[in-house]
Amino acid sequence: MQDSFDQAPTRNLLSVIVPCYNEQEVIETTHARLMELFATLDLDCEVIYINDGSRDRTLEILKRLQQSDDRVRVLSFSRNFGHQLAVSAGIDAAAGDAVVLIDSDLQDPPELIPEMVAKWREGYHVVYGVRAQRAGESAFKLLTAKAFYRMINVISDVAIPLDTGDFRLMDRRVVAVLQNMPERDRFVRGMVSWVGFKQFALPYARAERAAGESKYPLRKMLLFALDGVISFSLVPLRIATACGFLAAAMAVLGILYALFLRLFTGNWAPGFTLLFISIFFLGAATLMSLGIVGEYVGRIYRELKRRPLYIIDERLGFRNRTLATQV
Ligand code: UDP
Ligand code: MG
Repeated sequence: MQDSFDQAPTRNLLSVIVPCYNEQEVIETTHARLMELFATLDLDCEVIYINDGSRDRTLEILKRLQQSDDRVRVLSFSRNFGHQLAVSAGIDAAAGDAVVLIDSDLQDPPELIPEMVAKWREGYHVVYGVRAQRAGESAFKLLTAKAFYRMINVISDVAIPLDTGDFRLMDRRVVAVLQNMPERDRFVRGMVSWVGFKQFALPYARAERAAGESKYPLRKMLLFALDGVISFSLVPLRIATACGFLAAAMAVLGILYALFLRLFTGNWAPGFTLLFISIFFLGAATLMSLGIVGEYVGRIYRELKRRPLYIIDERLGFRNRTLATQV
């Protein structure tokens, strides 16, 4: 005989994490799209907005959304800590059996989430979006992004899938591992690859930003790329070593050349230009290598200080939930 309790649908919790930095133009539209989507899902849902030190009306709008719906939670940072830390704070606070990371500007279509959930139910632990097409980005951004993902894949210690962003669904088990990764320089998409488990690639067309402007100027993009490379690879250090060997090899060739001239032609090596070039070459190689080593040392220093990753100023809608880890 079947117990009637067995027929009760199993309802799991889905947490959707949305980092927001000066997104007053778009956040209400995003919220409406998410709520429409939640209504179609056979899951309990919560959305966690992280206000990453916005200077516009973002926080005010988020507070209003939070008051109107108890599935909305808001974490507000004490200042701007950057996209990757906002995402990390969301991961730390998420209670879901599955957790979705999504941008606030509707470039990642929320309508893809049901497909991600379906794959998750099939048994995948990570379902990540692969940007098959990208609308509304400059040729420069497309080209540099393409080059970056290929380059990091070649040199990184773990395979990081090509052309992925942070738009993805992760199972509780993956989230639990991420919550226990205390590193400061966070390249979240790389960290998720590093965790492993069964991962599924879901191609999608990345839309244009629905409103507002990109919060990733070139400077932030370059720093982000540098973090990605340095957190996941020691290859730059090896390049520095290789430069040293190359310079040494050239010096040996120079010595042999000078000896040859002296012994077999009776000439002194005519040296001024060569001297000039080799001093500059060596100086450049030395300084560049020092710089590369410095990037690693600086990160070790930052890591050693053991400061909190982010500071939360306000926390709304979490009721009695104890938040995992930092601060
Ligand atoms: N973002 C953030 N903190 C920052 C910069 C960006 O939380 O310092 C958020 C932003 O609100 C958006 C996401 O990160 O939800 C991606 O940023 P954006 O769309 O500006 O980047 P792009 O898509 O242009 O690369
Ligand atoms: Mg965007």
